[in-house]
Amino acid sequence: MRRSALVSGIVVLILFALAIGIWYAVISEDRGGKLTVSFLNVGQGDAIFIDAPSGRQALIDGGRGRVVLRELARASPWWDRSIDVVVATHPDLDHIGGLPDVLARYRVGLVMRSSVLDEGSADSAAFDAAADAEAKQGAALLVAKRGQIIDLGGGASMEVLYPDRDVSGVETNAGSIVARLVYGETAFMLTGDAPQAIEEYLALLDGKELHSNVLKAGHHGSKTSSSELFIGFVSPEYAVFSRGCDNSYGHPHAEVVALFKRFEIPALDTCKDGAITFVSDGTTVRRR
Ligand SMILES: [Zn+2]
Repeated sequence: MRRSALVSGIVVLILFALAIGIWYAVISEDRGGKLTVSFLNVGQGDAIFIDAPSGRQALIDGGRGRVVLRELARASPWWDRSIDVVVATHPDLDHIGGLPDVLARYRVGLVMRSSVLDEGSADSAAFDAAADAEAKQGAALLVAKRGQIIDLGGGASMEVLYPDRDVSGVETNAGSIVARLVYGETAFMLTGDAPQAIEEYLALLDGKELHSNVLKAGHHGSKTSSSELFIGFVSPEYAVFSRGCDNSYGHPHAEVVALFKRFEIPALDTCKDGAITFVSDGTTVRRR
């Protein structure tokens, strides 16, 4: 009798542990209908982490180096070693420098890149090699093209607005992927380092459909981006400068800072504010 009581006690304990485990997994995947977007503090560069309501995750760019790993560890739980989608907007060091480390540490389902090339660049070659290695382990590789929509589940998706053509021959910034992340009625405009000419082209193509709650100011606030026409159509509640404090480029440019002021758009800054996180419930976006 005592032995069977012990056995049934152990069985109950195992079932209890299993139930807790399952609920833990369910709860950790349930974002309560919220989309979280974090502009990580990677110094001079871009790294944007997206946590969709479905639990799917995406990383847009990876900053210059390993610092992105520290920031990702802060933005997601330590046991989470997978990122569903990694996007390299263009092959400049401040965007792809950290991605080989990300691809080495995390299991990635899809790597999206622009067709723009930076031939002869060691950083670009390191990223290509890392992406190829990830593909050998099962990741899909995709060259971005306008009209592609990446479904992040739970009603969140990311639509590629640019490039709409092969950009292999253009200067790297001009080949940047521009994407609009949409959840319900809310949206985030992610611009890489796309210059004003591309912004204005998109303003002509998409007009008011560019409207987004949050705009990542192009090219870290350089005056080569943030055309008045584009900002007018995007008409965001917030702009974000993703940049390092002591950058030698003078980002953000005073003219761009003044432009957002004139439009009465509060501009946040990863140098001053650290990582900047927004949460969308599909209707409104608030800063966390
Ligand atoms: Zn850049």
